Amino acid sequence: MKVTFTIIFTLCLQTAASQEAAAAPAEIRVRVKRARQTLDVAGFGLRIAPPGALTAISLEEPKLTTARITRTKQGQWIVKWPGTEESARFDSPALTVRGQMMRLGIEPVPYDLEVIPNPKAGMDVVARLDLETYLAGVLPSEMPAAWPIEALKAQAVAARSFALRTAFERRNKTFDVDSTIMDQVYKFLHAAQDHPEWKEKIARAVGETRGQTLKDARGRTVKAFYSADCGCQTEDPKFVWGKVDNIQSVKDPTCDQRKTRQWEMTLSKIQVREKLVAAYELPEKTTLRTVQVAGKTPSGRVASVIATLDVEGKAKPFMMSSQEFRKIFSFEKIRSTDFTLKWSGAKMQILGSGVGHAVGLCQTGARALAQTGMKYDEILKLYYPKLKLWVPKNDKPSKRANRRQNNARPRFAEPV
Ligand SMILES: [Zn+2]
Repeated sequence: MKVTFTIIFTLCLQTAASQEAAAAPAEIRVRVKRARQTLDVAGFGLRIAPPGALTAISLEEPKLTTARITRTKQGQWIVKWPGTEESARFDSPALTVRGQMMRLGIEPVPYDLEVIPNPKAGMDVVARLDLETYLAGVLPSEMPAAWPIEALKAQAVAARSFALRTAFERRNKTFDVDSTIMDQVYKFLHAAQDHPEWKEKIARAVGETRGQTLKDARGRTVKAFYSADCGCQTEDPKFVWGKVDNIQSVKDPTCDQRKTRQWEMTLSKIQVREKLVAAYELPEKTTLRTVQVAGKTPSGRVASVIATLDVEGKAKPFMMSSQEFRKIFSFEKIRSTDFTLKWSGAKMQILGSGVGHAVGLCQTGARALAQTGMKYDEILKLYYPKLKLWVPKNDKPSKRANRRQNNARPRFAEPV
């Protein structure tokens, strides 16, 4: 039995490896914008039509045009060209937008976009990008390009792994990754591109780690979370999102060498009540008794918070995770879960340190380690002790991967 198991297990691993090789990513679907009602597009040689109805844009069309796209409740697209009488209606499920130097509002965007209905309301604008091209837009948005190359390389591997796993999880959704802090920040044109030295560093960090990802013991690419500043110890993700077992809490060796970022937030009792009433959709007459830390994680961070409110005359406890608490009172203001909460009179005071959820790679720590001469693979090993750095044997896509790329809709294979 044991032998059989070993053989099957080995076969599984081999299958995982071959699937992985075949999973050379052709593209990633990046949501560059969510528009609630109307979408304003500007560009040179702008063309908007149902998918398949567009030919390539010629560079010889120098005219800058703008268009406004709306989606009716009946599911029709209306495209208007402001300043003209022209407008068009389409019944197609999506629209393709192409042009040169395109912008959505003021934001520069890739030159080939798809506009699709958002399942809730409005529309999503999605760009299909080569994974490595996408990463070159993520890297300087998530870590300053002026930082050491080894820190940038570690960040590139983490961002690539995060994107691939997220894309796999969302394979049946309309896009793979959002271009905001909800996933990873992506910018088509980043300020770093005007700075030759930084531009070159970004290209190096992505290029020298091309295809490299972090994998668990079963060979699966892992959603390699990372955060700005862990304080002194990274967090176990099970206390942030529950049920993640391949990233663990580690002590940050750079902690003593620098000052962790401290922050503070004070809210009046009236403001606290307002936020909670809105979050839990409580009756207007609800009053607040108190808010307190209810539990801590082994790393000393806040795990849960309890709020007691008088709802229709009765005291009612509301237990929330520290992430829910941050969401209610703003992720930007409550910058991490490493905080203390105290009341002084009618004011709630929160004192904290560190920035972000503190899971996985600590960016500030990675920078400090790179400055001491540590290489990117050693940095990754330190923050992700349970994961292995997977390096593709060569950059040439396999024949199977080529076939995959030629498909109308190439997707990622599950790396298991
Ligand atoms: Zn740290």
